[in-house]
Amino acid sequence: MSARYLIRLDDIAPHMDWPRFERLSQVFDKFSLRPLLGVIPDNQDPQLREFPKFVGDFWEKVRSLQARGWEICQHGFQHVYATHDCGLMGVNGLSEFAGLPFEVQLDKLMCGQRILREHGLNCETFMAPSHSFDRLTLRALRELGFTTVTDGFAPWPSIEHGLIFLPQWLANPRVLPLGVQTFCLHVNEMTEGQIRHVEQFVADHHREFLTCDEARSLATPQTLNRVAGQIIGSTLRRLKTIRRSLRRRRNSA
Ligand SMILES: [Zn+2]
Repeated sequence: MSARYLIRLDDIAPHMDWPRFERLSQVFDKFSLRPLLGVIPDNQDPQLREFPKFVGDFWEKVRSLQARGWEICQHGFQHVYATHDCGLMGVNGLSEFAGLPFEVQLDKLMCGQRILREHGLNCETFMAPSHSFDRLTLRALRELGFTTVTDGFAPWPSIEHGLIFLPQWLANPRVLPLGVQTFCLHVNEMTEGQIRHVEQFVADHHREFLTCDEARSLATPQTLNRVAGQIIGSTLRRLKTIRRSLRRRRNSA
């Protein structure tokens, strides 16, 4: 089987770039894609709050997307970083959860879950702000009934720590030789060129996209998949470090 794809949209909150979101959702609807939507339960991120506020009932809008089959994910709690811990993924040194005591993490996740439930949204998928979570975050997620995390370096969906991990390490959609990959889009930061690229990719490859449920059903606890994920993860982290030090050297030159 050739590669299969998912799309996730981060930072969904009342304050965001709605015209860009609507433009992308048109292409997803046209080709019947059902992306993962990372909703921030109580957005307090000062940078994100600079975007204009949604005109109308934000929660009604999210419920209507859920009714169309989009996978609503809990994107943290307030999207405010509390630590510089890069967590188990080891990619970004910012976290709303990793490095905090279990009770604090559980409380934050529970508050977020309660807000989403009050608005008629039941989420089983967690999307960590800045891709950062640790073992305690995962324990709290299990206790709260979450089944899935949209993050992971393994080529195929995997089962680890009692949860399903849907592979995610690319932002720009591209054709892969195998596996399942989630392309992570930050609508607020996308350029015109990036939007056009997504539109073209979806038009060309829409038959290769999965729903979140379909991706979940492919999850296995296979060691080979997990080991491949560890190799991919450490390679990507190393590449990131090399790129960072080259940039530093260029800036100081
Ligand atoms: Zn985010």
